[in-house]
Formats: sequence, structure tokens, C-alpha cells
Amino acid sequence: MKKHLSLFAIFAVVIAGQASAQDAQSVLRAAADKMGVTDMTSLQYSGTGWVGAVGQNFAPADDWPRFDLTSYMRTIDFSTNSSREEMVVIQGNNPVRGGGRQPIQGERRSTLSVSGDYAWDIRGNNVVPLPAAAEQRLLDLYLTPHGFLKGAMDSDPEAVSRAEYGERVTVVSFLALGKYRVNGTITEDHLVRRVQTWLPNPVVGDLYIETVYTNYREISGVQFPGRWHQHRDYDDGAQEPNVSGGDHAFGLEDIVDVRINVPNAALTVPPSVFDAEVPAIMVENEQLADGVWLLGGGSHNSVLVEFRDFVAVIEAPLNEARSLAVIQEVAALVPDKPISFIVNTHHHWDHLGGLRTYVHEGATVLTHDGNHPYYQEVLRAGPRLLQPDRLSLYPPEEWSEGYIFETVREKYILGDQTRIVELHHVQDLDHVAGMLVAYFPEEKFLVEADLYTPPATGGQLPAVPSGSNLTLYENLQRLNLDVDTIVPIHGRPGPMSEFLQLVNQAE
Ligand SMILES: [Zn+2]
Ligand SMILES: [Zn+2]
Repeated sequence: MKKHLSLFAIFAVVIAGQASAQDAQSVLRAAADKMGVTDMTSLQYSGTGWVGAVGQNFAPADDWPRFDLTSYMRTIDFSTNSSREEMVVIQGNNPVRGGGRQPIQGERRSTLSVSGDYAWDIRGNNVVPLPAAAEQRLLDLYLTPHGFLKGAMDSDPEAVSRAEYGERVTVVSFLALGKYRVNGTITEDHLVRRVQTWLPNPVVGDLYIETVYTNYREISGVQFPGRWHQHRDYDDGAQEPNVSGGDHAFGLEDIVDVRINVPNAALTVPPSVFDAEVPAIMVENEQLADGVWLLGGGSHNSVLVEFRDFVAVIEAPLNEARSLAVIQEVAALVPDKPISFIVNTHHHWDHLGGLRTYVHEGATVLTHDGNHPYYQEVLRAGPRLLQPDRLSLYPPEEWSEGYIFETVREKYILGDQTRIVELHHVQDLDHVAGMLVAYFPEEKFLVEADLYTPPATGGQLPAVPSGSNLTLYENLQRLNLDVDTIVPIHGRPGPMSEFLQLVNQAE
């Protein structure tokens, strides 16, 4: 009897699986017919809308900062898996609040390309190979409504049905590029309404991405959505308190032109792009004073500070790979002392992405009090499916006990008999809420992120100081800090006299 039952169970599963695959293919075929995908080899569309600076919100509960997209044109060639996106972005009437290099002066133009395994940008007249971006740009083709149908039909899709706001819809799902689950919601009238996927992200783990397609109409013989609305990450707005509010990433609201099967849609990969490799991670150390080192060699620095029985690191940027390389350098410079503290200047993702590795290492996180609820979420030791890190694979007990934070409001002193480092809150900043700087009273160093980048050796100061430059200056006055050297998280250390010269150029 038992044997019969299990045989029946297996049989039922096989039938259900086949039915699901057949349902999926028939739903896809109907949508492909309706949307004009069947004979489509290439697609070009243009319009205007907005873009969000993901991971750069002013405070963790805010939405991503927004810019106006005054011109957008995308050309996709499905036969060669190539795509070119040309964008013009302006500050517009959007508030200058948050990161993402604001305010935008004039126009910011970008051209993003992918062809098969190769990705590159055009900046001015230069081709910039971006080998690390190719996979996600390729995946992005499957997130467009027509690309989704093509990708799903070529694979082994499954389908489930559900009632969405009272309407029966079918969710068709397939595995793209052998790794990424892509779900498309297809309506009863055979239109792709929503495409979802997840990307690996060092801060939030499996980063949720969904694009909602509405206002369909017939243009150039195909059904094309008049409104594209993309979320990256979730807005926790339905919960109180909202600790994570960033979600709006991209929108097209005015489609001006759609063409299919355009001539010369396939891209030619520039020769310099073929040989490009993902650059190796480099950590270069420079001793700034007795027991103080700048750990540079990439786009973001860290600063190592030695105390009698332990060391502290200021800033854990980018991702786990960067953190592991920096931690290795720390161990070489100061063997046999634990990293007891990791100082985090602010919550922008490029400055936060390496923090989890230090939590796993056993360091206590020093950050502004306002970041605490958000960091409780993103420093969680829960599973990450797409790219597990150490904190998810080998979860430390201290996390669940809540022992990993020391939070700062206005001032915090990290010190022992040998040295003192003061952490101060930078008030009234437009770049971010809860920004911390580190002041070394003995050495007269100021470590700061994103508020001032000293010019490179032989380089020029900007013509006028930025809002962040001036706010930093006002805070140094308010706190009465006697600084000789500014040690930035981006770029090279520079003398205070240069910073004062820049600030005095105001008006
Ligand atoms: Zn920032
Ligand atoms: Zn930065």
C-alpha cells in the first residue's frame, strides 16, 4: 500500500509539471502573437521619464534620489543579444538631496552597451570596457516585456495562476543565464504586465527588481507599454516604522517612438572590449603617522588605526571582496591585534557594502544612531541565494544577540592610553543624514567621505566650492577642530590650506 502511494505521488508530480510547462508555453505563444514578438528581430524605442540613484537616498527611509530623463533611446537586437541605451539626465526640479553626484550641472549623458558576453560604455569619445557588467546587462534584455517573452519561450518555463486585484493572471517563470529566476505576469488579454527578478547585491543580498508595464497601445504594429515603472529593493512603507524606503529606480512615461526590425541594430564590439578583463582588487598602504595607515588602491579608501590591544578600521566600502583584501592588509601591517571596531561614515551603498564582512570578522560597528534600524535589516545573518557571503554562510551568534553596534549621535570618542579618535556628526548636510567624520586631535587628521576630494598631485581645485564643501567647513568651525590634513575616502590626502583656499572662493 505504501509503495502504491509513493508511485502515485511521483506520477502526479510528473503530470503537474508537464501541465505547467505546456500551460506556460501556450500562454507565452498567445502573448507573443498579441504583442508582435513572433516576427520581431530588433526593437527600438525612445521616450522620456526619470531615473533613481539606487543606494544613494538621503536617509534610509527615503526613496532613491530622482533625476529627470530628458532623452532615452534603446535599441535591442535579439538575434545577437545586443542592446544600446542612450540617456540624457538632468537635475530638473528634483530636490538636491542624497548622493549620486548632485546637483547635476547641465546634462549628464551616458551610453550603455552590451553584445553577448561583452559590455562597454561610451564616455565622450572613449570606449570604456565593463566586463563585470556584461551578465547583468544581458539579463536586463529579459526584463523588457518583449525580451521576456523571447527568453521564456526559448527556455523551460513554468506557470502558476493567481488573482491580481481580482483579475486572473498567469505568472510564467524561467531561469535566465542558468542563474536568475525571471517571472513575468501575463494578463488575460495576453500582455506582459510585470517582470521580476533578483540580482546579487552586497548590501541587501538578493536585490528585488520589478518593472511594471501599463498603458499598452499599438505602435508600429506591436503592442507597446506607454508606462514603464521600475522598483529596485522594497519600500517598507506599509510597516511602521519604515526603515528602508528606497525603491523607485527607473520610469518611462512618454514614449515618443517605437520601431521594429530596424536596420543595423546589431552592435559591433569595439576591439578594446574583447581583451578587457575584470581588474584585480588592489590594496596599497601608505603610513600617514605612527599607527595610522591609508589603505587605498581602488575607488574607495579605508583608514587603519592601531591602539594598544586592538585596531580599528574606518570605512568598509564596496563589497566583501574589497573587505577581505583590506583585512588581509590589516593583518600584515599589524599582526596579532583584532579588528575591534569598524567605523562607517554613512549608509550609501558604496560605503556600506563591505560592512557585513567586518561584522562576521567580529568587529563592532560604529555608525550614526539614525542608521541603526536599517542596519538591523541589512546586516542580518539570513540566507542569500544568489551570492552568499560569510555572514550568511557562517552566521555569528553575536548578531542575533544584538551585540554588534555602538551608535553615535553627536560625538563619540574611541580611545585608550595610547591614542584618541573623535567621531563627529556632520549637521545640515544635503548629501546624507547621519554623516560621521573622524578627527585625530594629536595628528590633526580629518577623515571624511564624499564631502571634499583634494585635487590629485598637480591637479586643480574646482572653481567654486560645492554645498558639501561649505557644510563641512561650517561643521569644522562649529566643532572647533584644528585640522592639518584632510584624509578622504575618495582620492588622496591633501593639506587643509588647499581646502580653505577652495572654501574662500565662495561668492
Ligand atoms: Zn555618499
Ligand atoms: Zn562616496
